[in-house]
Amino acid sequence: MFDDIKRHYLSLSKEDRRKLIKELQLTTFEDVSLDTNMSCCPHCSSHEFTKHGKHKGEQRYHCRSCKRTFKSSTGTAIGKIKKKREFLAYQDAMLSEGYMSLDKMSKKFNISIQTSFTWRHKVLLSIPETASKIEGEAEMDDLWFLYSQKGRKGLQYSRERGGTKHKGDNDYQVKVLAVANKEQVELKVSNIGRVSQADIHRSVGDKMSKKTTLMSDKHQSIAAYANNAKIKHINFKASEHTADGKGVQRVNNMAERLKTMVNRTFRGVSTKYLQMYANWFKTRENHKADIENSDVFQKAMLSNKKAWDVYSNIESIYERFIKSHSKRTYRCPVINRFKTTNWNKQVVFDYAFI
Ligand SMILES: [Zn+2]
Repeated sequence: MFDDIKRHYLSLSKEDRRKLIKELQLTTFEDVSLDTNMSCCPHCSSHEFTKHGKHKGEQRYHCRSCKRTFKSSTGTAIGKIKKKREFLAYQDAMLSEGYMSLDKMSKKFNISIQTSFTWRHKVLLSIPETASKIEGEAEMDDLWFLYSQKGRKGLQYSRERGGTKHKGDNDYQVKVLAVANKEQVELKVSNIGRVSQADIHRSVGDKMSKKTTLMSDKHQSIAAYANNAKIKHINFKASEHTADGKGVQRVNNMAERLKTMVNRTFRGVSTKYLQMYANWFKTRENHKADIENSDVFQKAMLSNKKAWDVYSNIESIYERFIKSHSKRTYRCPVINRFKTTNWNKQVVFDYAFI
């Protein structure tokens, strides 16, 4: 059987072979079915709902409390997507193949750059949060990326979008807090400018426990934070870094790779989306085994019902970040094209980088 197929395959023209491979790749994703166990209405959380016919092959429900209809894919990343199979293959490629430019991805999947952009962000917003705490010996450091308004239209000077003009100026440095033990890494965009102990507490405080021993370079805010939160803390001078895994080498090594991804592969990303790219990186570090066993992981992503809320409110989330945690001015708002009724602000802000 296998040899027969192989012989037939080899008798095809180059063009047909390529087509066939594409087709076969997509069939792998046909049986990734969505979570069909609806427990409550995604609009108002009521349990009072009834079946309400089918829409494009998917069961539809009607809510008795808010009178709206929904399907199991409502609110998820794949909810409003027409080419569902292709989207799943796209998601799989992002997780298992790594970081590719929008251009490469649009050619690979035969979609426009705009669709490629939309899909990438929808996938990134479906990534599940890691709930577990970072215990044992954990390294902490802050990394920075240049403030960037890449893609924002209407700015008076194009240099405002980013560039090297402000290098070295702290108030243009977007800080990312990185914490890692041997099993897990956490990356959080905390603020723009100098990191205070309050920034650390707000961004990664919920990942710490009394069983954590923090290790860091001489960083006053980290020491102050650890002292205040009564977490054991070990200070390392850069010269004391050793090869046996002590010191902040794991974080440093990760920082280098994250910087390469953001600054080289993607030629800088907008500050608005930086947390999403950090999540992408983090997921590929933390979930190598899950990604290989992609069905389960993909299902978890596809049942994330916060994805659409966050996706459609990303501009408000960014606005709030700039106004609360930086000295920058929020300029040239991007007009929201989406219906955003009924979204739970606090849930969304908690989920995003606020
Ligand atoms: Zn409802």
